[in-house]
This record gives sequence, C-alpha cells and structure tokens, in this order.
Amino acid sequence: MLNQGSTGIREDAMAAHPPFGDEDLLLVIDVQKDFCPGGALAVPRGDEIVPVINRLAGNFRRVALTQDWHPAGHRSFASSHAGRQPFESIPMAYGEQTLWPDHCVQGTPGAALAAALDIPHAELVLRKGCRPEIDSYSAFFENDRRTPTGLAGYLRERGVRRLYLAGLAFDFCVRWSAEDAAAAGFAAIIVADACRAIDMAGSLAQAYVALSAAGVTMAAAADLSFRS
Ligand SMILES: [Zn+2]
Repeated sequence: MLNQGSTGIREDAMAAHPPFGDEDLLLVIDVQKDFCPGGALAVPRGDEIVPVINRLAGNFRRVALTQDWHPAGHRSFASSHAGRQPFESIPMAYGEQTLWPDHCVQGTPGAALAAALDIPHAELVLRKGCRPEIDSYSAFFENDRRTPTGLAGYLRERGVRRLYLAGLAFDFCVRWSAEDAAAAGFAAIIVADACRAIDMAGSLAQAYVALSAAGVTMAAAADLSFRS
C-alpha cells in the first residue's frame, strides 16, 4: 500500500517531482511532421529525437513548443519564385533567404507536431513564420531580425531565466533561437542529442562557431536528468 502523509500527496508522486524549477523552461523547436523523415523538408534522422525529448520533458515543470506555421504561397518557398529551386539562396528585402520546399503550411498534416511527441504539460505553443512575406527561423525574431514574436516578453513575465533548447533543425531554427535567447539575457543551453541538423553548405560548422561566440552552451540529455 502506498504511504500517504498529512498533505495527502503520495510519497511516490513526490519522489517523481521534476528536478527543474520554475525558472527553467524546455523550448522544443519545430518537431513537426514535415521536418521528420517522410515530410516535405525532412531533417535526416529528425524522428530520432522525439523519444529523447519526451523523456527530457518529463524532468521539466515548464515546457514550450514552437511550430513553423506558414500560409500557402509563403515567400520562403521556392515555388513562390519563378525559375527558382529549393535550397537556392536569394536576396529579400531583409537579407539573404534560403528557399525551401513548401513545408509546414498552416492547417496541413505536415504542419502538425510529430505524432509521437508526448508533452501534455507544455504550457505554450508559439507559431512562427505566419506572415506571408517573411520567414522566421528564430522563436524570438522574424528573419528581419527586428520584428519580435513576443516570446521574450512571455518568458520574462513568467519568470524564466534559463532556456534549454531541443528540436529541429539544429543549424537553423534551434541555432537562431538559442542565439536570440542569449542576446535577450537568458541562459541558453542546447541539448545537443535532442537536436538534428540539416547541414547544408557549411551550416552546421557555422552554427557551432556562432553559438560559441554567443555564449550558448551544450549539454547532453542524460546529464540533465539528475540536476537538482
Ligand atoms: Zn519554414
């Protein structure tokens, strides 16, 4: 029989209490069907991180998710530019933009979160890339680097100080989100084995250099399961 104290809280439930506190938040970036194998913009082995993230999320009281969420005909799609192919780069009003296959179109099955993602206690789902004319790799700013998504304000108002980042793709949306988190004054830690990269035209090596310069640190999921 389970032992119950005067509070009525079962001791086995107390023992399972997550080790991270209210100042810590796990930010899960774009773990969506279109970014997993079989999707429109599949990140190699992207599906492998889902069980890692599910386990990790169980250690956090606080989790937020992002979803890439584009209207049909979005300007980041190669199909929106005559004669252009996916993965080419073109100048846009706000700078160079990589062109992608159509992906994560609002309300389509590919835009849904990966079916195996199991984080019922996630407190926020932030959708980004919603404006037709501009992409948003970062969870904090659109790609003009000036238009905020509101995430920094949400996190500050809710008392978050440390962000642990996981998801897809390491060298694009995770990287940009982590850099912006650090610039906004949050401690930013990427859970490296809970991410996968696209690694296109040197993007993975560039990401490591940029993240190091930004003061973002790396951790392994197993090392975060015992923090008290
Ligand atoms: Zn996108």
